[in-house]
Amino acid sequence: MSKGKPDTSAADFFPERKSLKAFREAAAGCQGCDLWERGTQTVFGEGARRAEVVFVGEQPGNEEDLSGKPFIGPAGRLLDDALVEAAIDRSQTYVTNVVKHFKWEPRGKRRIHKKPNAGEIKACRPWLEAEISLVKPKVIVCLGATAAQALLGPHFRVSQQRGQFIESTLAPYIMATVHPSSILRAPDDETRHDEQRKFIDDLKKAARVLSKS
Ligand code: SF4
Repeated sequence: MSKGKPDTSAADFFPERKSLKAFREAAAGCQGCDLWERGTQTVFGEGARRAEVVFVGEQPGNEEDLSGKPFIGPAGRLLDDALVEAAIDRSQTYVTNVVKHFKWEPRGKRRIHKKPNAGEIKACRPWLEAEISLVKPKVIVCLGATAAQALLGPHFRVSQQRGQFIESTLAPYIMATVHPSSILRAPDDETRHDEQRKFIDDLKKAARVLSKS
């Protein structure tokens, strides 16, 4: 794997035109860190151009990498179901990730998720900042520790601060909850149902803010 210049980032690939479409097209050719060589394609965010709520995960998974679309695998389906329960219209949301390429390592014939490192998160962050500044959501919901620590600081603890709105310049309201993939990894049905209920409760807090004029 080649090692690009250490200070290379997504910003080096920014388009002239400041639109989501232009950014999505430019991100397709991003080589801001070495992950472009490992993933099938860039998985940029998708959703409503003026979404009131933006969900930010860690990185695309196996299915997302192959399809080029975020949150379409098992975790995305769990998120869809939770949005219905929380009465948040999925068509009015925008979903994206902190890192836009799938980082994985082989295990037999399978590609196993590997957590992105601090350098990769930093290199990819300009795409996320561009998405947020163009969509201008009222609420940002970080899904999981990687997204939460990238947007709310390295000391943020999802286990202790989930569901709380945190002051931020990124959006009027920003909070974090668990990543839906962590619910799928629950050791038994009872734990999974319990985690799912807590996840829906967190999303309902976002829904309450959205319903305020
Ligand atoms: S992970 Fe982000 S910064 Fe790295 S190559 Fe992909 S789009 Fe560019």
